[in-house]
Amino acid sequence: MDETIVEDIKIVSEIYPFKTNNYVLDNLIDWENGIDDPIFRLNFPHKEMLTENDYDRLKWGRKNLSQAELSKLVNEIRLTLNPHPAGQTSFNVPFENGVKLEGLQHKYKNTVLYFPSHSQTCHAYCTFCFRWPQFVSNADLKFQSKELDSLVRYLNNNPQITDVLLTGGDPMVMGPKILARYIDTLIEVKSLRNVRIGTKSLAFWPYKFTAADDGCKEVLEILRKVTTSGKHLAIMAHFNHPAELKSDVLMEAIENLRAIGAEIRTQAPLLRTINNHSDTWAEMWDRQVQLGLIPYYMFLPRDTGAQHYFAEDLSTSLQIYRTAVQKLSGICRTAKGPVMSTLHGKVELLDIEDDVFYLRFLQHRDTRLTYKVFKGQASIANPKWLSDLAPMNSADQHYFEMEECIVEE
Ligand SMILES: *Cc1c(COP(=O)(O)O)cnc(C)c1O
Ligand code: SF4
Repeated sequence: MDETIVEDIKIVSEIYPFKTNNYVLDNLIDWENGIDDPIFRLNFPHKEMLTENDYDRLKWGRKNLSQAELSKLVNEIRLTLNPHPAGQTSFNVPFENGVKLEGLQHKYKNTVLYFPSHSQTCHAYCTFCFRWPQFVSNADLKFQSKELDSLVRYLNNNPQITDVLLTGGDPMVMGPKILARYIDTLIEVKSLRNVRIGTKSLAFWPYKFTAADDGCKEVLEILRKVTTSGKHLAIMAHFNHPAELKSDVLMEAIENLRAIGAEIRTQAPLLRTINNHSDTWAEMWDRQVQLGLIPYYMFLPRDTGAQHYFAEDLSTSLQIYRTAVQKLSGICRTAKGPVMSTLHGKVELLDIEDDVFYLRFLQHRDTRLTYKVFKGQASIANPKWLSDLAPMNSADQHYFEMEECIVEE
């Protein structure tokens, strides 16, 4: 590889974590495409992810600063990159008897996110990941759980919660023994109906579910307990590009998961340089349906890290979503989008007409505000996020309010 590209990777990975593996290198990246290959862009940091100023400071720092001074600079830059978008650490962590339940996030009435302490990493890292602060060593920025017991107590005390979404990192980095602890505990909770596992393993390490992995049989048997207990097992699979949907290993993994009764739903953000074409999404959703997967969400990249580089503006995003959907039949049109995950909930962009943005919350902490259309107008040129919009009129005001509110019971 070109030496300047290697140097750029080193410079950018001072700030953002970088990790790859041989499955990604051998099966997903088409090296003929050079650095413009979408999976290369997905997995390898590149210069444009930093502002020119930060890039220059780091390049200079690596030559001229001591290790301690360089770390200080790195931390300083990280803190300017909004490491906790949508109030991740402060706003949605529940309390019980005055004790903060670390690793739990309860924003919507029916669903809690749970970050097992054993899944704070991934098989490979995505360059755009909004969880990047969890992977860098700065302990202050970490967000994780040690307490499975407190999760179960919380679920039993809140029977309105029907869904637990295990997330990370990637829960499927857990080995069978640890995974079994989590699953065995969850299936005992009566009120729980759906166990969801958010994972990129089907794209980055499908061996997890095939005979090539020693623990595969065990992992599948553990997951099967969810469906035999009568609960729904939803694998929330993260796929960014049709190139991730081709290998024989993946076909085997999908077959094995479907054989234990899991439903696989798919989601991904829309990203410049990776999947910002309607053809890419149409091909992805079409192929997913052929493989028995259910398209679920098209997200917009969050306001953190290298969003300035990866995000398309709202108008382009809507155009890509709509054009992709128009190419496909109804059963391939199940992905909601374009969707922004904001402090109060998931906002879907429905339409833009005469500079009016039509939106609705698919999820909101206040359930009463969901599925109602509201209107915004751009407060900057080429808006990319809800915060770049202002209410159209006073009736829309409360959809834009960002102070804390309480989950409706
Ligand atoms: C996306 C998300 C969920 C799940 O929402 P669904 O619409 O049910 O898929 C739950 N909690 C948080 C914080 C989320 O961001
Ligand atoms: S797999 Fe998911 S959590 Fe892991 S780096 Fe990629 S986007 Fe982030």
